[in-house]
Amino acid sequence: MSEFKKPTRVQISINKAFKELLNRDLVKDLHDNEEICPICGGTGLEIINNPYGLSDDPNKIAGVFPYKHMSITFCRNCYNGVIRICPDCGQQIPRGFLECSCEAARQKREEKKLEIYLEKLHNAEHHSPSVLGAEFKCAYSDDYDKNEGYFFNWEDFFDYWNNNHTSTDERPEYVWGTQEIHMRLNANDVIDKACEDLYEEAEYDISDNAREEMQTYFNKWLSKNGLTAYTYDDSHAIRIPWEENENE
Ligand SMILES: [Zn+2]
Ligand SMILES: [Zn+2]
Repeated sequence: MSEFKKPTRVQISINKAFKELLNRDLVKDLHDNEEICPICGGTGLEIINNPYGLSDDPNKIAGVFPYKHMSITFCRNCYNGVIRICPDCGQQIPRGFLECSCEAARQKREEKKLEIYLEKLHNAEHHSPSVLGAEFKCAYSDDYDKNEGYFFNWEDFFDYWNNNHTSTDERPEYVWGTQEIHMRLNANDVIDKACEDLYEEAEYDISDNAREEMQTYFNKWLSKNGLTAYTYDDSHAIRIPWEENENE
């Protein structure tokens, strides 16, 4: 085993390395909610130690990293020397976060959400409860915390509501309609994929008739076995028939 050799410590003069930069200024065009980062003074940079240990070091102590590869890296408190300030509490919004976690900001977001919801509701086409199970096989509601919010009859909706709310809870007036998404099988796609490993342009040797034959079969198979999914559609609002809620 070779003898342990301590790394050689060298010191780099930042002053020398950055000589060209030292007489220059950084220009920052700040918006109302932006400030210069107090940690890096707006340079966007900080010095980090990058400590390390050596496994064959005779003086090794577990968990102690006595050596360094110090370097200058991006400041971890900001982006480009600029921080963002929450207009509601005046505190810095942590780097990497879009919004402040303070109560005032949270409340503002709730209000905004409600406003968007009410606007959507206002613009939606309104339907009577009877469309569920008819025109719309499935409905969606943020207040239905089962099956990802999707349900197929009012009974399920009311069951869930009655089990999870008290009579004093505020009730939504509407739920959303849904769009059906049908499973698809495309003969051309299947043929192209199946020909990939054959020979150059093999797919052109499959005639239009043969393709049609496959698609006809696919269509028949789909109508018998195909799956349907639903995705909520906030251009349709369905009134909740609270008068039918048996727990009344
Ligand atoms: Zn910074
Ligand atoms: Zn805040």
